[in-house]
Amino acid sequence: MIKKRLFLGLSAISMLLLAAGAVYIWLTFFDREALVLRYITAILVFLAVVILTIVFLGFALIILSLLSDKDVSVFSKPVNFAFSLLYPVVIWIGKIFQITQDKIQRSFVEVNNQLIRTKKMKILPHKLLLLLPHCLQVADCGRRITADTANCIRCGRCPVGKILDLCDRYCIHVRIATGGTVARSAVKKLQPQAIVAVACERDLTSGILDCIPLPVLGVLNERPNGPCFNTSVNINAVEKALLYFLEGGEKNVASGVSA
Ligand code: SF4
Repeated sequence: MIKKRLFLGLSAISMLLLAAGAVYIWLTFFDREALVLRYITAILVFLAVVILTIVFLGFALIILSLLSDKDVSVFSKPVNFAFSLLYPVVIWIGKIFQITQDKIQRSFVEVNNQLIRTKKMKILPHKLLLLLPHCLQVADCGRRITADTANCIRCGRCPVGKILDLCDRYCIHVRIATGGTVARSAVKKLQPQAIVAVACERDLTSGILDCIPLPVLGVLNERPNGPCFNTSVNINAVEKALLYFLEGGEKNVASGVSA
């Protein structure tokens, strides 16, 4: 829960700031003599109250789900709305407090993963997609695995071969994405019901937000050589995330974010 608290705490601060902004607009402009200014203020504040109510409801449901381990997908709309609206504000507040984006995004992925785990969904293998980042492939390998994963000869020099073995074992789709556009087109083409995505904090976060309302379990990659270069991933964490969907969401099967 500790990692999750960062995103949740900053979300709570974001909501307070948004509410304070609405109160400020009301107090500053509603008393003005110009009638048109009063109308504009009333409309703006009314919209802010509606939006904040939905966000607050979504946030309360997220907390409830995390604490009780119960699925709240029946209220997925306010939850997804809260995620999408609060995230940029949280990043902005993080900058003010000098909290790195990586930390906030890691916390966001943890919150997302736990919410997905409460759903306990069972997905057929052909409806599950594994998305991998291109940087898992060792840089001096000339095989064009982004065009076709069959071009990998599974030589063992990078984690791609072992992950492809997993995909064969569980008969699931796998795509190696060079960026968001490729990932989006794979999702559009294959129409999966769930995704397991391996990536860095930034790409996982944008992927999860892009895919809403599709459930995405995120597994963080490891970057012993710096970002985007000869990265690695905990194969067990990937397998657990796949099995989480394939076996119907057994509790604690997926650890989500890798160590
Ligand atoms: S396992 Fe070998 S062939 Fe496959 S991508 Fe990695 S280095 Fe290239």
